[in-house]
Amino acid sequence: MDNWKYGQYIRNGLRHQKQHRLCQDSVFFAEDDNCVVAALCDGIGSLPESGLAAKIAAIATCMILQKCAGIDFRVHASNPNGMLKDLLEQVDSYVAAKFRERGIDRESGDSTLAFVYISKKFGYGFAASLGDSAVCLIQKNGNMCLTESNAHSESTATINMRTPWEYTKSDVFELNDDNFLGAVLSSDGMDGVLFAKNSIQVYKNTEFYFNAVQTDDFEKTIASKLDPMIEQYSDFLDDDISIAVLSRATEDIEFPEDPTWLCSCGARNTLDDTYCSVCGSDFMDVYRNVPFERFGGKTQFFMYANSRPEYERNVIKPQPAAKPAEQPRANPAEKPADRPFAKPRAVSSEPMSDKQWKNILTSAAQADGKVKQGTRVIKGVKGKPDEKVRWWQKRSLLVAGATTLAVSVTVVALHKRNGKLPDTNHK
Ligand SMILES: [Zn+2]
Repeated sequence: MDNWKYGQYIRNGLRHQKQHRLCQDSVFFAEDDNCVVAALCDGIGSLPESGLAAKIAAIATCMILQKCAGIDFRVHASNPNGMLKDLLEQVDSYVAAKFRERGIDRESGDSTLAFVYISKKFGYGFAASLGDSAVCLIQKNGNMCLTESNAHSESTATINMRTPWEYTKSDVFELNDDNFLGAVLSSDGMDGVLFAKNSIQVYKNTEFYFNAVQTDDFEKTIASKLDPMIEQYSDFLDDDISIAVLSRATEDIEFPEDPTWLCSCGARNTLDDTYCSVCGSDFMDVYRNVPFERFGGKTQFFMYANSRPEYERNVIKPQPAAKPAEQPRANPAEKPADRPFAKPRAVSSEPMSDKQWKNILTSAAQADGKVKQGTRVIKGVKGKPDEKVRWWQKRSLLVAGATTLAVSVTVVALHKRNGKLPDTNHK
């Protein structure tokens, strides 16, 4: 029998503190003999009653899922939207009813929703995220983040919108194979620290937060890490922050290293870097011909490539121009990755043969628009404000380098005179 540990941390954002407003994030856990539920809701800042809406929605999610403990949701796996639709409609009407009781307009408060439901009874789990909150699934065969897609980019998707289930990312997983270790739920206040928006990537940073549940005082452990970070990166971490951890691990878990992109100059860069931190090469030029969508996305591609050095070097070698006459290989099994490390079907051996390359290059040329869209994540606006990374320093250095060669030469010369080179390689 698993011993589930949980911990939560909620912090009023600096922006809200300045406006004398309360934190609008809510976290609730529920556990009984049949199930464990963790729910996290991030209130919509522009609406006055969102703190209340988030609280009611998180409680309602726990209650409703607990009541459903006798149902095996996997039966509905062929139509997960149907199941989510029912759940989200029930949560929404619960919030509406509680607002009505208090004489509050339903439109005056709203929230996102992220939850994990563990069925002890049937031995499976079900996780979902609506909006820009995230559920990071911690798994032996690779971590995976469920968070908002590009589908609803103007404002975040919420419970009180028209068809929230269409904007929800979900996953059903087995518990009996021991692959699933737990989950980290988070509001978008930690976007860029724990997870990357519009990506399945869970940063290695998350390791600390997940393992904090093994300590005696989860909140204190998290605060000891976050407080100095918030002080240092106050303009970056100014939003409400909420973190909920659910774990069945019995000891600290080591997370894999974050994927990096290898530049033709040999430097490694984080996937947030648009330009090489050493030579300034544009990511889009170095990986111009790589069809990331064949791997399920940019992150998955680099997870695959990073563990195969020879293959990785071959990818960035200058490639011959594609012959547009050749037909790309059909790949009907391809879909947006719902599992990490999904083995790309088009690539079976390494390095790729010329024929395979031609196939891939041809389809890449045709899907050029798509490839570009898929890499929009790398706008370079956010980096990870971890100890190691000072993103604005790196960026300003690059800007200097790009403006004129003379300026960058001067920068390097100055640093040299001080006895050290600028810290461009954070590894
Ligand atoms: Zn480079």
